[in-house]
Amino acid sequence: MDINSSVSELKGVGEKTKKQLETIGVYTIRDILLHFPYNYIVFPEPVDVSEYEEDTTMAIRGELSTRPYNKGGRFQMVTATITDGQKKLPVVWFHMPYIRNTLSVGETYIFYGKVRNKNNRIVLEQPKVFHEDDYKQKMVTLQPVYHLGDGITNNAFTKLISQSVQFATQMNDFLSPDIKERRNLVDLNRAICDSHFPRTMDQLLDARKRLAFDEFFLFLLRLEATKTESIKTIYQMHGKDRVLDISKQLDFSLTPSQDQALGDILKDMSKDVPMQRLLQGDVGSGKTILAFLAMLYCSQNGYQSAFMAPTEVLAMQHYEKLRAFCEKHAPFTNVYLLTGSVSAANKKAIKRELSLDPTAIVVGTHALIVDDVDLPNLALVITDEQHRFGVRQRETLNHKGDLPHTLIMSATPIPRTLAIILYGDLDVSVMKESPKNRLPIKNCVVNKNYRKKAYEFIEKQIKEGHQAYIICPLVEESEAVDAVDVISYTKALKEYYKEHPCDVNIKITCLHGKMKPAEKNRIMSDFAEGKIHILISTTVIEVGVDVPNATVMMVENAERFGLAQLHQLRGRVGRGAWQSYCIFLDGKNRKEKNKRLEILNSSNDGFYIAEKDLELRGPGDIFGIKQSGDLDFKVADIYHDASLLKDASYEVKQMIEKDPNLNLPEHEILKQSINL
Ligand code: ADP
Ligand code: MG
Repeated sequence: MDINSSVSELKGVGEKTKKQLETIGVYTIRDILLHFPYNYIVFPEPVDVSEYEEDTTMAIRGELSTRPYNKGGRFQMVTATITDGQKKLPVVWFHMPYIRNTLSVGETYIFYGKVRNKNNRIVLEQPKVFHEDDYKQKMVTLQPVYHLGDGITNNAFTKLISQSVQFATQMNDFLSPDIKERRNLVDLNRAICDSHFPRTMDQLLDARKRLAFDEFFLFLLRLEATKTESIKTIYQMHGKDRVLDISKQLDFSLTPSQDQALGDILKDMSKDVPMQRLLQGDVGSGKTILAFLAMLYCSQNGYQSAFMAPTEVLAMQHYEKLRAFCEKHAPFTNVYLLTGSVSAANKKAIKRELSLDPTAIVVGTHALIVDDVDLPNLALVITDEQHRFGVRQRETLNHKGDLPHTLIMSATPIPRTLAIILYGDLDVSVMKESPKNRLPIKNCVVNKNYRKKAYEFIEKQIKEGHQAYIICPLVEESEAVDAVDVISYTKALKEYYKEHPCDVNIKITCLHGKMKPAEKNRIMSDFAEGKIHILISTTVIEVGVDVPNATVMMVENAERFGLAQLHQLRGRVGRGAWQSYCIFLDGKNRKEKNKRLEILNSSNDGFYIAEKDLELRGPGDIFGIKQSGDLDFKVADIYHDASLLKDASYEVKQMIEKDPNLNLPEHEILKQSINL
């Protein structure tokens, strides 16, 4: 058995587990080792019974004051009471009838579990029970928490990791001792072991630093290595005045930023070298219309173009709008949709059309790239919300046609210093202002006690004909993470409006990433058509969706998201002429204000927020805060790890200068690592 062996060689992995592991991309021991935790449970300092807090997972020191009582029933419920002499707290366990025999009345234990308010009755649910000494031992360790598919428990996966760590020494460490020393980085195998089973916070931070550095380093090296020399393109276009005319006949007039960016784009496409441009515009700044105009330019010149969206929902939405746009302004141009949900028969027909229709416009998700679509006349590739794509996907599509022009659109306001590193190979247009008809979004940061008021406010907006989003960090309840989830939240909110009826029959629906794409599409289009009043969702709606009638967004557990991501989320409202609102609910009942959330409260400027995000994050903040998903880094975060990014960039530059094609023997492993 070695690092390349199949997971089925591990103890406890049968056919079923093997299949389940495959769904999360884990086939070999190496894959297991590289499946890093996204969070760590730190067992907290225990508190007395009287200090409990609702909706919080905590360690409570208490004396068992009643003998555990077995209520039986379908859930095999066992109840008991604990006390600190002043206050009492009921405790409940499910499916653990044996717990009765392990506890003695009058003894003091540490109970680690979640305190809940169930119909105004406070209970400590399903606590793990420890003797004080054992708990003290636990407190000094960090327990890994993994993103796993259905059917694999965190415990089971942790056991597989324990069996696999011995093979970490077989990982090829591609960084030279020089770099490791200069940048103070630990060895790769150590970083891998420590990230799964850190014994101290320092060890964990060291491990994370190495892994984050590697991600940046390999990303930048790949970028350097695939940089295209200025090659000519055969798709040099003419007659941009006709496009500019159409840009003046739209339902709205373009903002000066849009005019400027459109000018840049059309000029690039009229040259005989391929455009490589990044269009960076804050959420709602109106990037989509510029993409449409660029594609129009393309079809007027007799060429094909492709528009790629990161999600099916977004692809659908762009497709519908683009079709309407072309009907009006380019009646002879056909628009096609290609996503994972298109049936096989239809896909075949569409692909045939695409290979024959010289001015076709195709909109799709990356199914477009993965599949062997033949676009013989492809002159322009646009990727919307680029940060969701890795560079490799960008390349694949680039090479489909005869070096087409590329336009990448991103709403992630990356500070200039970082943009130069991450987008070093691109020209950049920045759009800072929003269309004039917009009122700035009104924000507030509140705590859980404000929830009821928020619901009343949402109700008022619905009565005025508007719609609302509520964002939760989780899809379903999690033992490891203390945060609200879409599924229970939807149930609870439906209950709430049943108990507090109003004149409108409020329609509530949930949306999350575990749903089938077709179902997500249906829900999104129902929401866009106003058939749903409140959409309760995870961050799947974060990217690009445009429903101008939605005027309120409430973000639950806002403290768990990165600032840049919250700003993106907020961009789903304030897209029409109406006043819009964003309510950030801080799930931690703390006395002092949350500094990070206050920044969002005080500004709607994405670039300002990104800069502040960069300043505020300290080394310990990284766990538990959801990353912004930028550029698909798994461990690294461009804001938090900005200085590492700079270091990695420097090292890559040095290396490329010395050995441009990585031909030196010492760079052999490195070359393999980036698949060149
Ligand atoms: P984003 O830049 O976030 O992708 P969109 O392109 O989706 O933003 O534009 C947001 C909304 O603003 C859309 O409904 C779009 O039709 C509208 N819009 C775009 N440009 C203008 C403009 N110049 N004036 C008024 N509305 C505009
Ligand atoms: Mg967009």
